[in-house]
Amino acid sequence: MPDRWSDVDEGELDAHMLVSTGHLPADTDVQALLEEGHARYRSLGDGVVADYIPALACASPEWFGAAIVGTRGGVFQVGDARHEFSIQSVSKPFVFALVVDSLGADEARRRLGVNSTGLPFNSVMAIELGDDRTINPMVNAGAIATTSLVPGDTADDKWRFVLRGLSRFAGRALAIDDEVYASEMSSNRRNQGIAHLLDSYDRMYFDPDAATDVYTRQCSVRVSATDLAVMGATLADGGVNPVTGERVVAASTCRRVLAVLATAGLYEHSGDWLYDVGLPGKSGVSGGIVTIAPGKGAVGTFSPPLDVAGNSVRGQRLTRFLSDRLGLNLFASQPEHERG
Ligand code: GLU
Repeated sequence: MPDRWSDVDEGELDAHMLVSTGHLPADTDVQALLEEGHARYRSLGDGVVADYIPALACASPEWFGAAIVGTRGGVFQVGDARHEFSIQSVSKPFVFALVVDSLGADEARRRLGVNSTGLPFNSVMAIELGDDRTINPMVNAGAIATTSLVPGDTADDKWRFVLRGLSRFAGRALAIDDEVYASEMSSNRRNQGIAHLLDSYDRMYFDPDAATDVYTRQCSVRVSATDLAVMGATLADGGVNPVTGERVVAASTCRRVLAVLATAGLYEHSGDWLYDVGLPGKSGVSGGIVTIAPGKGAVGTFSPPLDVAGNSVRGQRLTRFLSDRLGLNLFASQPEHERG
């Protein structure tokens, strides 16, 4: 990082940090609203199932599931909430969190960058345009660089660290989808090219081919909408998994990760998303979206048809509905004299 705020002692600030408060509404209301939102958008026919990774093209456009997990450990589910799919880009915030936790927030920012690009998720131009050739960990270039920084001397060590870390976020032992992994490995020359371009600028911190391989495995990990909600709820709960009670990352890591999600979680529609939903979220090309309401909980959705930016159509609509109706939008307020 350049000299921005370099005189500020971040450790000192962190030690005195207060957080905003509030909880989800009553359990019965949360379940009822989840079901109402699911019924409302179930028959929405817009969007196209991704096919640039051949194995993803087999997904049914009908699949639609969602879950909410609160920081008090409540789990609410509807539709295909337990249907498993490859996590794809929704892995990015969680691997970034593991790296921030092991490197420190400042070092992670210096080596990876944290600003939005305004360009597509697999942009090469974003690398060329950036001053110091860093991007941010939510687009492919920054995500592959992030994976290259995962602790471990070998690709296998790094992969084990990633799988163990994602499993701790989910509160269960996750596994790779071998078919999706093989399919993406046969069609990911662009990601390999991105890794080599970063390497030419000394912004790749491990062998570029091996890092791309581990990144592709990470994207092929099988999860459900319920897993995404538990993983997101861990980021909403200061780094403690509210279902297992295990601390996965530090609270200071969570708020850095959520800040990056707010600017870049939904590709080039991140601004529209924040405008509509008012929460940090991350989408993936197989149709998953995780959305985090700090201190309250998280929403996980799954529905394969995507819009032009690669974000699940039904998932975005349902999450917006839930953000409004559960009172999650971070930017919403009401005049003091009108409050009950
Ligand atoms: N593994 C996919 C890729 O790198 C992830 C893309 C996404 O979910 O946006 O192309």
